[in-house]
Amino acid sequence: MTDLTSLTLAEARKGLADKTFTSLELTDAHLSAIEKARVLNAFVLETPDQARNMAREADANIARGEVGPLAGIPLGIKDLFATKGVRTTACSKILGNFVPTYESTVTSQLWRDGAVMLGKLNNDEFAMGSANETSCFGPVGNPWRREGSNTTLVPGGSSGGSASAVAALLCMGATATDTGGSIRQPAAFTATVGIKPTYGRCSRWGIVAFASSLDQAGPIARSVRDAAMLLRSMAGHDPKDTTSVDIAVPDYEAAIGKSVKGMKIGIPREYRLDGMPAEIEKLWEAGAQWLKAAGAELVEVSLPHTKYALPAYYIVAPAEASSNLARYDGVRYGLREPAKNITELYENTRASGFGAEVRRRVMIGTYVLSAGYYDAYYLRAQKVRTLIKKDFEDCFAKGVNAILTPATPSAAFGIGEKGGADPVEMYLNDIFTVTVNMAGLPGIAVPSGKDSQGLPLGLQLIGRPFEEETLFSLGEVIEQAAGRFTPARWW
Ligand code: GLN
Repeated sequence: MTDLTSLTLAEARKGLADKTFTSLELTDAHLSAIEKARVLNAFVLETPDQARNMAREADANIARGEVGPLAGIPLGIKDLFATKGVRTTACSKILGNFVPTYESTVTSQLWRDGAVMLGKLNNDEFAMGSANETSCFGPVGNPWRREGSNTTLVPGGSSGGSASAVAALLCMGATATDTGGSIRQPAAFTATVGIKPTYGRCSRWGIVAFASSLDQAGPIARSVRDAAMLLRSMAGHDPKDTTSVDIAVPDYEAAIGKSVKGMKIGIPREYRLDGMPAEIEKLWEAGAQWLKAAGAELVEVSLPHTKYALPAYYIVAPAEASSNLARYDGVRYGLREPAKNITELYENTRASGFGAEVRRRVMIGTYVLSAGYYDAYYLRAQKVRTLIKKDFEDCFAKGVNAILTPATPSAAFGIGEKGGADPVEMYLNDIFTVTVNMAGLPGIAVPSGKDSQGLPLGLQLIGRPFEEETLFSLGEVIEQAAGRFTPARWW
């Protein structure tokens, strides 16, 4: 039998339906892969007993002919999703050993459809970061290495555990979240597929909040089809999240293989950055040509406010974070440091419970929201956000179906290589992804090629609101042309 961990989700679904193997066998194969890959630090909690129980239940259902869309498929869950009875920490010391008494809507829909939980995945603390280096559980290793080098690289962030685990074949797919690029950037760094759906497409209920007006859940998967299958289960209206939208969830998988003939693809001139590696330019051009060869029409478009997106994002996101993180006070959740009075309790707990990056964001956020600075920073950033959104609307009004851009300005870098002296160096990673969150649009990252050091690179497609199907159709064209990439195992 072929190694069960090397199957795509779609292939595993067929094998389970044909009874070539059981969910328990598939689950056990992944559990043993996880054990052998602990050096990657992708999982912060393994739940083998629960996984086997869920797999047995899936097998019983399959035997009865009750086959849910994800029946028996083993998945990893980012530690930002509340899982009932299973420790959920957002990879922050401040949540300690917090065990939720409820399940997030997105994960409950995955279990409803028959999926199996392997465990909880590492991420940047409260999803703040682009390298998965801010987690209280330590950094995550990227299964990809530069050719001829033993340096461990970052998998991107904040969903670094999700991307690393999917790329290293430790789970068939993973949940992730994206506030400014945290699904798409790690997907690009690991040759996996990641989609951030339209704001409102997936319920945020039961997901630890970072910046509520930007946060969205989505999958990281081994192929475009797998991502479509996962999103179908994750998406949907939820009355418990007032920003969740009541629009029927389409069969995203049906979009795979659909003709893209006649689609207009925008190439934004503002994304051509000074100093961008020539390899990224070349990849971007190759992607455009693949889409053209499939019958799409390329048009140059302008998104003039792009240059303000990063500074505006790094005001809006910390502002919302400072407010969302006010609840971690040592009284209600997790960690509580000893103190003589209530003020000291807050101070001691928050000072020792939050890591450096989170403290930085809380301070920036509190500053930009404070009286006297609110208009100069927060209000102005909100106005810029409206202009960024309008740039995209103007494009779409001209008949553009999707916009093609690089996913990241570079390939994966080494652990500790970036952002040490200047946090802005790390923030620059998000240059192509934050605009999409600011505008609430869907965006997909698809593996598209490798750089001269053998590291994967990804392209991003940005779509109209609630037109994820277009992204799946176009994404699959790129995937077909570029092929799939798997890292050589060294762990
Ligand atoms: N890297 C960005 C940040 O640090 C985005 C993170 C995310 O999307 N959760 O804020």
